[in-house]
Amino acid sequence: MSNLILLASIDWEGAEIKQDNIDAIKKFNESHHDVPFTHFICPSYFTRGFDTPKISELIKSAIKPNDEIALHIHCWESLITAAGVTYHAKPTWNKNNDPGTGVKKANGELDFGHDVPLGSYDDAELLKIFTNSLELLVSSGLIERVKDCVGFRCGGWVASTNVLKAMQTTGNFTYDASGAPNLFFKSLNAREPLPLYSWLEEQWGSTLVNDPAYISNSLTHPLYPDGVTGLDPQSPTISQTQFIKDANLHEIPNTAALADYNTVSQLKDYIDRAVAQAIKTGNTAISMGFHDVNATQVSFDDPPLTNIEVFTQGVDYFKSQNGVMLTRKALAKRLRQQANNVCYRYA
Ligand SMILES: [Zn+2]
Repeated sequence: MSNLILLASIDWEGAEIKQDNIDAIKKFNESHHDVPFTHFICPSYFTRGFDTPKISELIKSAIKPNDEIALHIHCWESLITAAGVTYHAKPTWNKNNDPGTGVKKANGELDFGHDVPLGSYDDAELLKIFTNSLELLVSSGLIERVKDCVGFRCGGWVASTNVLKAMQTTGNFTYDASGAPNLFFKSLNAREPLPLYSWLEEQWGSTLVNDPAYISNSLTHPLYPDGVTGLDPQSPTISQTQFIKDANLHEIPNTAALADYNTVSQLKDYIDRAVAQAIKTGNTAISMGFHDVNATQVSFDDPPLTNIEVFTQGVDYFKSQNGVMLTRKALAKRLRQQANNVCYRYA
Protein backbone atom coordinates (compact mmCIF):
# COMPACT_ATOMS: atom_id res chain seq x y z
CA MET A 1 0.00 0.00 0.00
CA SER A 2 1.93 2.98 -1.28
CA ASN A 3 0.20 5.64 0.76
CA LEU A 4 1.33 3.96 3.98
CA ILE A 5 4.68 5.39 5.09
CA LEU A 6 7.10 4.23 7.79
CA LEU A 7 9.62 6.65 9.30
CA ALA A 8 12.28 4.68 11.20
CA SER A 9 14.67 6.33 13.62
CA ILE A 10 17.47 5.76 16.11
CA ASP A 11 17.95 8.19 18.99
CA TRP A 12 21.63 8.50 19.90
CA GLU A 13 21.51 9.74 23.46
CA GLY A 14 25.01 11.16 23.72
CA ALA A 15 25.70 8.71 26.57
CA GLU A 16 28.28 5.93 26.29
CA ILE A 17 28.60 4.16 22.93
CA LYS A 18 28.74 0.41 23.41
CA GLN A 19 30.13 -1.93 20.78
CA ASP A 20 27.35 -4.52 21.24
CA ASN A 21 24.72 -1.90 20.37
CA ILE A 22 26.70 -0.79 17.30
CA ASP A 23 27.04 -4.43 16.24
CA ALA A 24 23.29 -5.02 16.63
CA ILE A 25 22.50 -1.98 14.43
CA LYS A 26 25.03 -3.15 11.83
CA LYS A 27 23.43 -6.60 11.83
CA PHE A 28 19.99 -5.04 11.33
CA ASN A 29 21.36 -2.92 8.46
CA GLU A 30 22.82 -5.98 6.74
CA SER A 31 19.45 -7.72 6.63
CA HIS A 32 17.39 -4.54 6.08
CA HIS A 33 19.23 -2.37 3.49
CA ASP A 34 15.86 -1.06 2.43
CA VAL A 35 14.97 0.50 5.79
CA PRO A 36 16.32 4.07 5.84
CA PHE A 37 16.94 5.46 9.30
CA THR A 38 16.89 8.98 10.55
CA HIS A 39 19.69 9.06 13.14
CA PHE A 40 18.93 11.69 15.77
CA ILE A 41 22.39 12.25 17.26
CA CYS A 42 23.28 14.14 20.44
CA PRO A 43 26.83 15.45 19.86
CA SER A 44 27.94 15.26 23.50
CA TYR A 45 30.10 12.30 22.41
CA PHE A 46 32.51 14.97 21.19
CA THR A 47 32.58 17.26 24.24
CA ARG A 48 34.08 14.88 26.83
CA GLY A 49 37.71 15.00 25.75
CA PHE A 50 37.80 11.67 23.88
CA ASP A 51 39.20 11.00 20.40
CA THR A 52 36.65 12.57 18.04
CA PRO A 53 37.61 10.77 14.78
CA LYS A 54 37.50 7.39 16.55
CA ILE A 55 34.00 7.97 17.97
CA SER A 56 32.79 9.44 14.71
CA GLU A 57 33.98 6.38 12.77
CA LEU A 58 32.25 4.09 15.26
CA ILE A 59 28.95 5.92 14.80
CA LYS A 60 29.38 6.04 11.02
CA SER A 61 29.89 2.26 10.94
CA ALA A 62 26.20 1.96 11.90
CA ILE A 63 24.95 4.42 9.26
CA LYS A 64 23.90 3.36 5.74
CA PRO A 65 24.24 5.56 2.61
CA ASN A 66 20.44 5.93 2.42
CA ASP A 67 20.14 7.10 6.05
CA GLU A 68 19.74 10.65 7.33
CA ILE A 69 21.64 12.39 10.13
CA ALA A 70 19.62 14.78 12.28
CA LEU A 71 20.10 16.44 15.64
CA HIS A 72 19.08 15.23 19.09
CA ILE A 73 19.88 17.30 22.15
CA HIS A 74 20.11 16.15 25.74
CA CYS A 75 21.45 18.88 28.02
CA TRP A 76 24.67 17.16 29.16
CA GLU A 77 26.86 19.56 31.12
CA SER A 78 29.81 19.13 28.71
CA LEU A 79 27.61 19.95 25.70
CA ILE A 80 26.01 23.00 27.32
CA THR A 81 29.38 24.30 28.55
CA ALA A 82 30.97 23.77 25.12
CA ALA A 83 28.28 26.09 23.71
CA GLY A 84 29.40 28.85 26.09
CA VAL A 85 26.26 28.51 28.22
CA THR A 86 26.13 28.16 32.01
CA TYR A 87 24.87 24.67 32.84
CA HIS A 88 22.02 24.11 35.31
CA ALA A 89 21.41 20.74 36.93
CA LYS A 90 17.70 21.30 37.66
CA PRO A 91 14.91 20.75 36.85
CA THR A 92 15.16 17.12 35.76
CA TRP A 93 12.34 14.82 34.66
CA ASN A 94 13.10 12.42 37.53
CA LYS A 95 11.47 12.30 40.97
CA ASN A 96 12.94 14.92 43.36
CA ASN A 97 15.14 16.29 40.55
CA ASP A 98 17.35 13.23 40.70
CA PRO A 99 20.25 13.96 38.30
CA GLY A 100 19.99 10.59 36.53
CA THR A 101 23.01 8.65 35.28
CA GLY A 102 26.40 10.29 34.76
CA VAL A 103 28.74 9.38 31.91
CA LYS A 104 32.52 9.33 32.32
CA LYS A 105 34.55 12.06 30.66
CA ALA A 106 38.17 11.55 29.55
CA ASN A 107 39.39 13.18 32.77
CA GLY A 108 37.43 10.66 34.85
CA GLU A 109 34.77 13.11 36.06
CA LEU A 110 31.11 12.38 35.45
CA ASP A 111 28.96 14.27 32.94
CA PHE A 112 25.29 14.70 33.97
CA GLY A 113 22.35 16.52 32.40
CA HIS A 114 20.64 13.94 30.16
CA ASP A 115 17.39 14.46 32.05
CA VAL A 116 17.31 18.29 32.12
CA PRO A 117 14.68 19.70 29.69
CA LEU A 118 16.13 21.81 26.86
CA GLY A 119 13.37 24.40 27.19
CA SER A 120 14.63 25.31 30.67
CA TYR A 121 17.33 27.39 28.93
CA ASP A 122 16.46 30.91 27.69
CA ASP A 123 16.19 32.05 24.06
CA ALA A 124 19.77 33.35 23.71
CA GLU A 125 21.13 30.19 25.38
CA LEU A 126 19.03 27.93 23.16
CA LEU A 127 20.39 29.60 20.04
CA LYS A 128 23.97 29.04 21.25
CA ILE A 129 23.22 25.39 22.13
CA PHE A 130 21.62 24.67 18.72
CA THR A 131 24.36 26.47 16.77
CA ASN A 132 27.20 24.76 18.58
CA SER A 133 25.54 21.34 18.40
CA LEU A 134 25.19 21.64 14.61
CA GLU A 135 28.83 22.73 14.35
CA LEU A 136 29.86 19.67 16.36
CA LEU A 137 28.09 17.40 13.86
CA VAL A 138 30.26 19.02 11.15
CA SER A 139 33.58 19.17 13.05
CA SER A 140 33.20 15.51 14.04
CA GLY A 141 32.75 14.61 10.37
CA LEU A 142 29.25 13.17 10.78
CA ILE A 143 27.86 15.69 8.26
CA GLU A 144 29.67 17.80 5.67
CA ARG A 145 27.92 21.12 6.07
CA VAL A 146 25.64 22.59 8.73
CA LYS A 147 22.82 22.85 6.20
CA ASP A 148 22.85 19.05 5.73
CA CYS A 149 21.04 18.70 9.06
CA VAL A 150 17.40 19.76 8.74
CA GLY A 151 15.72 17.70 11.45
CA PHE A 152 15.55 17.64 15.22
CA ARG A 153 14.11 15.58 18.05
CA CYS A 154 14.25 17.04 21.53
CA GLY A 155 15.70 14.91 24.31
CA GLY A 156 12.74 13.49 26.27
CA TRP A 157 10.38 14.66 23.45
CA VAL A 158 9.91 17.96 25.34
CA ALA A 159 9.99 20.36 22.36
CA SER A 160 8.44 23.38 24.04
CA THR A 161 7.45 26.63 22.33
CA ASN A 162 10.80 28.32 23.06
CA VAL A 163 12.69 25.31 21.65
CA LEU A 164 10.68 25.36 18.41
CA LYS A 165 11.21 29.13 18.08
CA ALA A 166 14.96 28.70 18.63
CA MET A 167 14.96 26.10 15.86
CA GLN A 168 13.43 28.69 13.54
CA THR A 169 15.99 31.32 14.61
CA THR A 170 18.79 28.85 13.95
CA GLY A 171 17.48 28.80 10.38
CA ASN A 172 18.50 25.25 9.61
CA PHE A 173 15.50 23.11 10.25
CA THR A 174 12.56 21.98 8.14
CA TYR A 175 11.01 19.69 10.72
CA ASP A 176 10.72 18.71 14.37
CA ALA A 177 10.15 15.05 15.31
CA SER A 178 9.37 15.34 19.03
CA GLY A 179 5.57 14.98 19.08
CA ALA A 180 4.75 12.13 21.48
CA PRO A 181 1.58 10.02 22.01
CA ASN A 182 -0.03 11.67 25.05
CA LEU A 183 -2.49 8.91 26.00
CA PHE A 184 0.30 6.36 25.93
CA PHE A 185 2.37 8.41 28.35
CA LYS A 186 -0.72 8.97 30.46
CA SER A 187 -1.09 5.20 30.82
CA LEU A 188 2.62 4.83 31.69
CA ASN A 189 2.26 7.58 34.25
CA ALA A 190 -0.66 5.77 35.87
CA ARG A 191 1.40 2.60 36.10
CA GLU A 192 4.78 4.04 37.05
CA PRO A 193 4.54 7.76 37.93
CA LEU A 194 7.45 9.82 36.63
CA PRO A 195 7.61 13.59 36.06
CA LEU A 196 8.66 13.01 32.42
CA TYR A 197 5.49 11.03 31.71
CA SER A 198 3.24 13.64 33.26
CA TRP A 199 5.05 16.38 31.32
CA LEU A 200 4.48 14.50 28.03
CA GLU A 201 0.87 13.81 28.94
CA GLU A 202 0.47 17.60 29.32
CA GLN A 203 2.71 18.94 26.59
CA TRP A 204 1.33 16.75 23.82
CA GLY A 205 -2.16 16.54 25.35
CA SER A 206 -5.45 18.32 24.73
CA THR A 207 -4.93 21.32 27.03
CA LEU A 208 -3.01 24.51 26.27
CA VAL A 209 0.09 24.76 28.50
CA ASN A 210 2.05 28.01 28.92
CA ASP A 211 3.80 27.35 32.18
CA PRO A 212 6.38 26.02 32.93
CA ALA A 213 8.10 27.15 29.72
CA TYR A 214 9.87 23.83 29.20
CA ILE A 215 6.56 22.02 28.54
CA SER A 216 4.68 24.92 26.90
CA ASN A 217 2.77 23.93 23.77
CA SER A 218 1.28 27.17 22.41
CA LEU A 219 2.61 26.48 18.88
CA THR A 220 1.70 22.81 18.60
CA HIS A 221 -1.50 22.60 20.64
CA PRO A 222 -3.66 24.47 18.06
CA LEU A 223 -2.51 21.91 15.44
CA TYR A 224 -3.29 18.93 17.67
CA PRO A 225 -6.27 20.15 19.72
CA ASP A 226 -7.05 16.57 20.83
CA GLY A 227 -3.39 15.92 21.58
CA VAL A 228 -0.84 13.88 19.65
CA THR A 229 -2.14 10.32 19.39
CA GLY A 230 -0.71 7.06 18.14
CA LEU A 231 0.39 3.88 19.84
CA ASP A 232 -2.34 3.73 22.45
CA PRO A 233 -5.27 1.65 21.13
CA GLN A 234 -7.68 4.10 22.79
CA SER A 235 -6.53 6.73 20.31
CA PRO A 236 -9.12 7.08 17.55
CA THR A 237 -6.48 8.00 14.95
CA ILE A 238 -2.72 8.22 14.52
CA SER A 239 -1.69 11.89 14.42
CA GLN A 240 -0.17 13.10 11.16
CA THR A 241 2.28 15.81 10.14
CA GLN A 242 1.27 19.44 10.62
CA PHE A 243 2.87 22.69 9.54
CA ILE A 244 3.84 24.94 12.46
CA LYS A 245 3.49 28.27 10.70
CA ASP A 246 4.96 30.38 13.51
CA ALA A 247 8.14 28.29 13.54
CA ASN A 248 8.22 27.55 9.77
CA LEU A 249 8.59 23.84 10.53
CA HIS A 250 6.70 20.65 9.92
CA GLU A 251 5.90 18.63 13.02
CA ILE A 252 6.45 14.97 12.10
CA PRO A 253 5.42 13.27 15.33
CA ASN A 254 6.96 10.19 16.95
CA THR A 255 3.60 8.46 17.32
CA ALA A 256 4.85 5.11 18.67
CA ALA A 257 7.51 6.61 20.97
CA LEU A 258 10.49 4.21 20.86
CA ALA A 259 10.85 0.43 21.03
CA ASP A 260 11.97 0.28 24.65
CA TYR A 261 8.45 1.50 25.47
CA ASN A 262 6.75 -0.93 23.03
CA THR A 263 5.73 -4.56 22.76
CA VAL A 264 5.56 -6.36 19.42
CA SER A 265 1.83 -6.78 19.79
CA GLN A 266 1.38 -3.03 20.43
CA LEU A 267 3.38 -2.27 17.28
CA LYS A 268 1.34 -4.73 15.21
CA ASP A 269 -1.92 -3.23 16.45
CA TYR A 270 -0.56 0.25 15.66
CA ILE A 271 0.38 -0.83 12.12
CA ASP A 272 -3.04 -2.45 11.61
CA ARG A 273 -4.69 0.82 12.62
CA ALA A 274 -2.36 2.72 10.26
CA VAL A 275 -3.36 0.45 7.36
CA ALA A 276 -7.05 1.08 8.09
CA GLN A 277 -6.40 4.83 8.38
CA ALA A 278 -4.50 4.87 5.05
CA ILE A 279 -7.40 3.13 3.30
CA LYS A 280 -9.87 5.58 4.80
CA THR A 281 -7.99 8.88 4.61
CA GLY A 282 -5.07 8.49 2.21
CA ASN A 283 -1.44 9.16 3.10
CA THR A 284 -0.65 7.91 6.58
CA ALA A 285 2.85 8.18 8.02
CA ILE A 286 3.85 6.28 11.13
CA SER A 287 6.98 6.32 13.19
CA MET A 288 8.97 3.59 14.93
CA GLY A 289 12.45 3.60 16.41
CA PHE A 290 14.75 2.76 19.29
CA HIS A 291 17.59 4.20 21.38
CA ASP A 292 21.21 3.31 20.54
CA VAL A 293 22.09 3.03 24.20
CA ASN A 294 19.75 0.19 25.11
CA ALA A 295 19.26 -1.53 21.73
CA THR A 296 20.51 -4.86 23.06
CA GLN A 297 18.85 -4.67 26.47
CA VAL A 298 16.00 -7.06 27.19
CA SER A 299 12.66 -5.34 26.62
CA PHE A 300 10.94 -4.17 29.81
CA ASP A 301 7.48 -5.17 28.56
CA ASP A 302 8.25 -7.88 26.03
CA PRO A 303 10.97 -10.19 27.37
CA PRO A 304 12.94 -12.17 26.36
CA LEU A 305 13.17 -10.03 23.21
CA THR A 306 15.69 -7.20 23.18
CA ASN A 307 14.55 -3.69 22.26
CA ILE A 308 16.05 -3.90 18.76
CA GLU A 309 14.31 -7.26 18.26
CA VAL A 310 10.95 -5.68 19.20
CA PHE A 311 11.65 -2.94 16.65
CA THR A 312 12.77 -5.46 13.98
CA GLN A 313 9.60 -7.52 14.37
CA GLY A 314 7.56 -4.32 14.04
CA VAL A 315 9.44 -3.34 10.87
CA ASP A 316 9.03 -6.82 9.36
CA TYR A 317 5.31 -6.71 10.04
CA PHE A 318 5.14 -3.27 8.42
CA LYS A 319 6.97 -4.60 5.35
CA SER A 320 4.36 -7.35 4.98
CA GLN A 321 1.79 -4.55 4.46
CA ASN A 322 3.66 -3.21 1.39
CA GLY A 323 4.09 0.32 2.63
CA VAL A 324 6.98 2.62 1.73
CA MET A 325 9.84 3.66 4.00
CA LEU A 326 11.34 7.16 3.99
CA THR A 327 13.64 9.32 6.04
CA ARG A 328 11.93 12.25 7.71
CA LYS A 329 14.06 14.61 5.66
CA ALA A 330 12.59 13.13 2.46
CA LEU A 331 9.06 13.37 3.83
CA ALA A 332 9.58 17.00 4.93
CA LYS A 333 10.88 17.84 1.44
CA ARG A 334 7.78 16.26 -0.13
CA LEU A 335 5.51 18.18 2.21
CA ARG A 336 7.25 21.48 1.31
CA GLN A 337 6.95 20.75 -2.39
CA GLN A 338 3.27 19.95 -2.04
CA ALA A 339 2.69 23.16 -0.07
CA ASN A 340 4.60 25.20 -2.68
CA ASN A 341 2.67 23.61 -5.52
CA VAL A 342 -0.60 24.56 -3.87
CA CYS A 343 0.66 28.15 -3.42
CA TYR A 344 1.84 28.27 -6.99
CA ARG A 345 -1.43 27.00 -8.36
CA TYR A 346 -3.51 29.56 -6.53
CA ALA A 347 -1.07 32.49 -6.56
ZN1 LIG B 1 16.95 10.96 23.76
